[in-house]
Amino acid sequence: KGDVNKEDLLFKIGEMLGISKPQRGSDNDLRKETGPPIGETLPTAKAGGISSVLIIEDNPDNLATIKAVLQNRFRILEAKDGEEGLRMASETRPDLILLDMAMPKMDGFTAIRHLKDHIHLKKIPVIAMTARAMKGDREKILEAGCDDYIAKPIDPEGFLKKIGEWVKG
Ligand code: MN
Repeated sequence: KGDVNKEDLLFKIGEMLGISKPQRGSDNDLRKETGPPIGETLPTAKAGGISSVLIIEDNPDNLATIKAVLQNRFRILEAKDGEEGLRMASETRPDLILLDMAMPKMDGFTAIRHLKDHIHLKKIPVIAMTARAMKGDREKILEAGCDDYIAKPIDPEGFLKKIGEWVKG
C-alpha cells in the first residue's frame, strides 16, 4: 500500500492494455466510487452503483494484472490468502469473488468449502483462477463448489467477458 512503484506498474499495465484510463494515486478501495471512465459506455452498467469484486490472490504480479483489468469498472477488494479472503468476504459481502486456487495458509479448495458452507456467503458467485491447465482440473474445481473457472495467465478480454457473465460492471 502506498508503494509508488506499484502504482506506476498498474498505470503502465492499464495503458498497455488500452482498456482503461487508470488514475495515479487511486487505491481502488471501498471508500472510493470509481465509476466507468467518462465517455465509455458499458453494456452492463448497473443503475445502483458499481459492483464489488474481491480478489483472493497471493501472487503480486497476477494481482496487479487483474487489478489493471478491473479498475474503473468495479470496486476492488483484495486479499492475499484464503484466511484473509474469508474474513474480507464475510465483512464486505462482495458481488463476486475471484479465487486463486494455489495459495499459502489456506488454499482455494479449502476457502471455497468455507464460502459455500456459509449461509450468508454461499450465494456470492466464485470464479476460480488457476495456472494449471491439466485435463480434469476444471471439473475438480467446479466439483469443489466454484461457480466458474478462469485459466491463468489472464487474457484481459476473455477475463472481462467471463466476469460480465456473473456480475454487472
Ligand atoms: Mn497462487
